[in-house]
Amino acid sequence: MSGLLLAAREGLALEGKWTPDQVGQIDVEWLRAQGLEIPPAALWGSDGAGLLEAAVSIGDCSTGFISPEGLLLTNHHCAFSILQQHSTSARDLITNGFVAKDRSEELPGGGVRATIPHRSTDVTAEIEAAVSAGADDLARFRAIERKGKELVAACEAPPHRRCRVAAFDGGVRYLLLEGIEYPDVRLVYAPPVAVGDFGGAVDNWSWPRHAGDFALLRVWADAGGAPAEKGEGTAAFKPKHWFRVAEKGAEPGDFVMLAGYPSTTFRSFIAAEMAERAELWFPRRAALYRAWIDIMATASQGSEEARLALADRMKSFANSEKNARGQVAGIARGRLLEKKAAEEREILAWIEARPEHRPARAAHDELAALVAEQRRSWDRDFLLGRLLGDDRPLDLALLLVRWAGEREKPDLERDPEYMERNRSRIADRLELAQRQMHPMTEEILFADLLARFAALPEGSRSPAVEALLGDEKGAREARPIRAKAAALLAGSKVAEARERERMAAETVEQLHARRDPLLDFAFALDRELLDLKDRDDRREGAVSRLRPVWRRAVAAWAGKPIAPDANRTLRVTFAHVQGYAPRDGVWMKPQTTLAGVVEKNTGVEPFAAPGKLLAAAASAAKSRWADPAARDVPVDFLADADTTGGNSGSPVLNGRGELVGVNFDRVWENVANDFGFNPDVARNVSADVRYLLFLLETFAGDAARPLLDEMGVSTAAARP
Ligand code: GLU
Repeated sequence: MSGLLLAAREGLALEGKWTPDQVGQIDVEWLRAQGLEIPPAALWGSDGAGLLEAAVSIGDCSTGFISPEGLLLTNHHCAFSILQQHSTSARDLITNGFVAKDRSEELPGGGVRATIPHRSTDVTAEIEAAVSAGADDLARFRAIERKGKELVAACEAPPHRRCRVAAFDGGVRYLLLEGIEYPDVRLVYAPPVAVGDFGGAVDNWSWPRHAGDFALLRVWADAGGAPAEKGEGTAAFKPKHWFRVAEKGAEPGDFVMLAGYPSTTFRSFIAAEMAERAELWFPRRAALYRAWIDIMATASQGSEEARLALADRMKSFANSEKNARGQVAGIARGRLLEKKAAEEREILAWIEARPEHRPARAAHDELAALVAEQRRSWDRDFLLGRLLGDDRPLDLALLLVRWAGEREKPDLERDPEYMERNRSRIADRLELAQRQMHPMTEEILFADLLARFAALPEGSRSPAVEALLGDEKGAREARPIRAKAAALLAGSKVAEARERERMAAETVEQLHARRDPLLDFAFALDRELLDLKDRDDRREGAVSRLRPVWRRAVAAWAGKPIAPDANRTLRVTFAHVQGYAPRDGVWMKPQTTLAGVVEKNTGVEPFAAPGKLLAAAASAAKSRWADPAARDVPVDFLADADTTGGNSGSPVLNGRGELVGVNFDRVWENVANDFGFNPDVARNVSADVRYLLFLLETFAGDAARPLLDEMGVSTAAARP
C-alpha cells in the first residue's frame, strides 16, 4: 500500500479499522495533519512492539493498561459478568457498585483472561500451500484448519502463549497472531449499575448518552511477572506500555484514535450476502431475542433470585436485540442494499474490460449461489445455530456431549474449540453457568425453543425434536411441549454443578449409560449440529477460495487501500471529536455533562441516578474535573471513529497517545456501519476519562487516592 495513495483522497483513512502493520504504511504527513503527534512507529514498530501493546483483549471486549501496575480500564458492561458472579441479595455488587479497599480485596473474574498482543506474522503462503490441488471445498476448509492448528501449536510451545491464525476478508491474507495470556484478572472498581448503565437498554445504541460505562480491572502475575492462574497471582503485573491519563480530556474538534478488537463486520460481503443478513439474520435474531428477553423480564419481576441469576444474559440479549433492529433500520434508511448492488454492477462492468480480473465475476456468481443454497434450510439452521452459546441446560448438555466425543480423538484432529488448549475455558463455562440459571425460567425458555422447532414447515424439521415430541395428536401444542420440556429438565442432572463436573470427565459411553434424558436428547441433536457444521465448513472452504479473488478485483477497481473487515484482531482507527445531524434540522452536540444526568433522572430505572451523584452534580461546576467550556463535569462524547461490537472498552487516545476516554457504543444511525461507512453519521460513543476521575473521587472514598496515584493523576491541589 502506498502512503501517497492513502493521502490522495481527503478523509479516506478516517474510514477503516487498520491493522497495526497497515498504520506504518499510512502517509506520515497526512496522519500528522489529522492530529497524530507521536511518530506512527511509536504505536507499532517494525519489530511489532509499541504503544498498541497496551491495548489488550479480554474476550468479547477490549481494554487498555492505564498504569504501570497492571490496571486496566474497560466498560462496566464488560465487567458485568464479574459483578454478577460475586453478587448475592445480601451483597449486591450490581446495584451498589464495587471498590476494592486495597489490592487484597480485588475480585477474581471467572472466565476473564487478558491477552496482550505480542507479534504478528504473515502466514498466507503457508496456509495456501497446505491446500492440495484438486481438493474440494470441505477438504480445502479442513486443510486450512489443520495448518492453522499446527501453526498455533508451534506458536504456543513457549509457556503462556495464546495464538491464532486469523483470516482477513475471507483469506486475502492470513496472520498468525501471538499473544501472552494472563488468566488472573481481578475487578478493582465498578460504579453502581445506575451510573455504569444509566439509561440502560432505552438509551443503548443512541445519543445523547449519560452512562459512566467504566470498570477497572487489574492483571495479576507471579513474583517474576509471568502469568499466574486465576486468583494465584502474588504481584500486580507490570506492563511494558500503558496509556497515561490526559487530565484535560478531549474537546470538540480534537483528534482521537482508538485501539481495540472489533469483532465482525460485513463490508466485504457481496450484495446477495448482505441481503441475507438484512432480510433474515438480523430480523429473526431481533424477534427471537425479544421473546426471550420478555420471558426473563417477567421472571425477574417476580423474583429477586431470578433477577440476579438472569441479569447478565438479559443484558446481553437486550444489547443484541436492539443492535439487530438498528442494523435493519440503518440498512433501510441508508438504502445500503441498493447502493451495494449499484456499486457491484459498476465493478462487474469494470471487470468485463479487464481479462486479468475475469475470474472475479465467476467468484462473485459462486458466492451468490452459496447464499441461495444457504437460504434453502435457513430457518432450521438458524435455530440449530442458536443452541450453543447461551448457558441454558440444553446448551450445557450439548457442550458435554461434544466435549466427550472430541476427547476421543487425537488433539490435532479435534474441532479447534474442543482442543486441550481450551480445556480450562470449557471448565469455566460449565462452572460459571450455575449462577446464570433459574430453573423455572429455563423450563419456559426450553419450551419456547422446542415450540419454534415444532413450528418449522414439514420437510425442514429437526429429527431429534420430532422424535421427542412424538406424533400423537396435539403434540405440537403449547401444553404438551411444555410438559416434555419439564420432564427432560426434571429428569436430568445437567443443571447440577457437581454432577456436571463429573460428566465433563466422562466418556461418550459413560454419558450414554447415565440415561439422562437431556443428555440423550443432546446426543440426538448433536448429529444434526455436526451435519450443519459440515455444511458450514464446506461453505467456508468455498468462501476462502472465492472471496480473495473477488476482493482483489474490488481493491484494484477502488485504486486505494481498504482496511479489512473486523475479525477480532487488534485494529486502530483515527477520528475527531465531533457532533452530527441524525436527521434534517437536528444537530447533536458531541458532549454531554452531569447536568444532563440530572435532567434525565426520573428516579425510575434505568434513569435512577444514585442520590450521592445527584448531590455531587449540584457543585460539579466547581469540580477539578469540570470542562472549562461546558462548566460542568463532562460525561460522554462522540467521535467519528470506525468501530463495532468488540470495541467496547477500547481506549480512546489523543494525538500524544494519552487516554481521554473509553469507547462503549455507537449512535443509532451508525449501527449499520457494519455494512458500510457513512461519514455523515459514523459516530462512536465514549465515556470521558474526567467522569471516571470524578466518580472515583466521589464514590471510591479512601480507595480512590492510591488508584489515582498509580495512574499518575495529580492530587487535587497540584492540578493546574
Ligand atoms: N455497545 C456495543 C456492544 O456492547 C459496543 C460497541 C459498538 O458496537 O459500537 O456491543
